[in-house]
This record gives sequence, C-alpha cells and structure tokens, in this order.
Amino acid sequence: MQKTKILLDESEIPTHWYNVVADMPNPPAPPLGPDGKPIGPDALAAIFPTSLIEQEMATQRWIPIPEKVREIYQLWRPTPLFRAHRLEAALGTPAKIYYKFEGISPAGSHKANTAVAQAYYNAEAGIKRIATETGAGQWGSSMALAGQMFGIDVRVYMVKVSYHQKPYRRSMMQTWGAEVFASPSEQTKVGRAALAENPDNPGSLGLAISEAVEDAASRADTNYALGSVLNHVLLHQTVIGLEAQKQFAIAGDYPDMIFAPCGGGSNFGGVAFPFFADKAAGKNVRLVAVEPTSCPTLTRGHYAYDYGDTAMLTPMTLMYTLGHDFMPPSIHAGGLRYHGDSALVSQLYHEKLLEAVAVPQLATFEAGVRFARAEGIIPAPEASHAIAACIDEALRCKASGEAKTLFINLSGHGHFDMSAYDSYFSGKLEDCIYPEEAIQAALAHLPKVG
Ligand SMILES: *Cc1c(COP(=O)(O)O)cnc(C)c1O
Repeated sequence: MQKTKILLDESEIPTHWYNVVADMPNPPAPPLGPDGKPIGPDALAAIFPTSLIEQEMATQRWIPIPEKVREIYQLWRPTPLFRAHRLEAALGTPAKIYYKFEGISPAGSHKANTAVAQAYYNAEAGIKRIATETGAGQWGSSMALAGQMFGIDVRVYMVKVSYHQKPYRRSMMQTWGAEVFASPSEQTKVGRAALAENPDNPGSLGLAISEAVEDAASRADTNYALGSVLNHVLLHQTVIGLEAQKQFAIAGDYPDMIFAPCGGGSNFGGVAFPFFADKAAGKNVRLVAVEPTSCPTLTRGHYAYDYGDTAMLTPMTLMYTLGHDFMPPSIHAGGLRYHGDSALVSQLYHEKLLEAVAVPQLATFEAGVRFARAEGIIPAPEASHAIAACIDEALRCKASGEAKTLFINLSGHGHFDMSAYDSYFSGKLEDCIYPEEAIQAALAHLPKVG
C-alpha cells in the first residue's frame, strides 16, 4: 500500500527554530524610526518583551524552543505531511503532490505556532494583558487560545467587516476568554477619529493594528502581538519546514517546488526558509509565494520603506508595499489583505531567491473545491491560493510529461469560511484586479527616507 500520511512522533517536534538571517547573502535592511535612523531595541520595548526583540534582531542560525512551548505544540504537532494521491489522479498528472496540514491546530491554522511562543515570552516578562488585531479572525483565535494557556488576558480589535461576516470566529475567541471589539472602535483615539470621519468605516488591517498598538503603548501591563510580518513570527513558523524536511526524508523524496499562500509572509517563510538553507547550500528547490491579484504586494507593489499600519505608529521597514493607506478590495481570503509583507521575504524576493505569483479569486475557490472533492479537507480560502498555483504547475507537468515533486503548505482549514464558499457557489464572487492607478497613487504617500 502506498503511504498517504507521513507522520512524525511527538519526540520529533523541533527543538530549535531556524533563523534564515544566518544564510541570507546580505544582512537584513534595518527598520527605521520616525527620524529616518535605524531603531535600536528600546524603540520596541514599550510593546514587546526583550526576548522577542532579541529574536527580531537575532543573527544566529538556531534558536532554542522553550520546553513549555514544545509541550503545548504537542497538542497538535508534528502536523502530518500528506501525499495527495487522489488529487494527482483527479488531475491526471505525473507530478507528485504533497501537502502539510496546519489546519489541525485547535485554532485551525498555522498561526497558533507563533501565538503560543509569543504568549510564553510575554508571560515570562510578567505581562498580564495583550492587545492585538485580527482580520479574518485566524490570528485573533490563535492569540486567544495561547493567552488562555499562559494566563494572559487578550483584547482583539477585529476588522469590522469580518466581525460581522464571521460571527463564529468571534465566538471562538470568546470561548478562549478573549474580549473582541469591531475596529474601528470607540476604545482608542485612532478608532474614534476614524469613526468621527466615517461612522460606517468598514475597517482595515492597517487600522486595527493602529488601535492595538495604541492600546498596548498606553498601558504598562499590556503588550502588543503581531500574527505575521515580523522576523520573530516567521522564525516561530519554521517548525513547519523543519518537520517537512524530516517527513520528505522518510518519504524518500524532495520537493522541486514549494507553494504557500502569502499575506504577511509567515506561513510561507515558515515552510520555505528551512528549504532556503538547503538552497543556499546548493540544492535546487523553487520557493513560490502565492498572493491574490486583488492584493498583489510582491508581484506589483513597490520595494520601499513604509509603515506597517495606517496611523504610522510602527517603525518603517524596507518591504514590498501597496502603501500603508491601502484599502483592500473585500475579497474573501481575509488573511491575504495586508498592504505590506515580511521584510525578510521581501529582501530575498528582491534578490530573486524566492518567487511569487498572483492568482484571481475565482480560480482559488475552484481549486479549493477541487481539492476538497479529491482530498476531503476543506481548505481556508487563503490556503486555496497555494493549491491553485500548485494545480497550475501539476497541469503543466501533465502537458510536458514531467514528474516534478510539488509541495503545498495547507495553512488552515476553511470551516469558518463557509459563507465565502456559499458566495462562490451562488455566483456572487468576482475577480478583482487591483488597479494600476491605485498602485501608482500609493507611491505619492510613501514616507520620504534618506
Ligand atoms: C493568516 C493566514 C494566512 C496568511 O498569513 P501569512 O502570515 O502570510 O501566513 C494564510 N493562511 C491562513 C490559513 C491564515 O490564517
């Protein structure tokens, strides 16, 4: 019998996270403060614990995973690597397709991998409360879960459209004890100003980040936590790629191409960076970030210093950006609607060591449904982006007769996204290409640096 699931024992949960900075050809461009000068660790001390700031700036290759974090990882890690025999057969492709399923975490996505680590370090630093934002709700759920495990109160600013579209994500956060407000909210200055200007403001991730940062910066017992983009977040996610390397060794195989959805870059970095180490050592592996055509940060954005949030409270980082005042079209893959991207992913992409493609919304749902009908698992709309790009490659293999090994990071399940599937089935979803004028207009708003 051919194997379908390649499983690791709990004792094989990685003991260290992998830091890609050690293998990058150039050191990462420094984040800048409001004066245009590189920031030091103090600039972040009001909202992050020292241990995470150290990880943010770390250059050593391996960083130990605390035992208490590994113990919580045991609840769902190691995650299985599947061979998609049934999808291969349905496509009639000679390609071999594998996927790693991060949807088995209690919160339903990879985001729990970093939430647990962040909650641990904050608890160690004596922090009692965390303020954070969430778009579609996956990050808020993960942080609520992790806060509960370490006795930290969690306050979530949830982008207003999602707050109303995904009521059960909210209930999930409440089940784990978190407090949830629709953003813009009356709780912060930034929120009140946005509401005064437009009481019907639907919210955006950039705005919700501003609210959470303001909340955290104004209270000594409160820190901020971000679910993607930052170096330490990508670091924590490398457990995905590290486990996958062991699983491919067991399967006696190795990926030619890896596909992961890319919003802020955390699951992509998490799966791709350990393989980037192999690539830096001479292995031939292509690492492909997949984003929506409606939010084409890597494929069409500017590589420039920009803020991480709308209110310009964060440091500026050198990254691909659509502009910090970007208002995303309301597509259903909420987790992929951020204006910027990880600085590490951006730099490696700029140096042409990583690849990116954009896929339109309808194609992603078509791919998600095809996947569910073959493999059973209903993917999160974000994850369907990677599936769509992988299916395209598998069909190219069918045409050319090549038997490539393709690997998808299935970042989460879609059980809380069924209203998006409903819209797809009832023909209400449309493709949306982000307009070139808007991309050009963003240039004018980028901060002047240097
Ligand atoms: C948040 C999310 C993403 C996108 O975020 P990244 O930081 O780019 O990984 C992708 N898939 C799922 C399931 C998510 O919850």
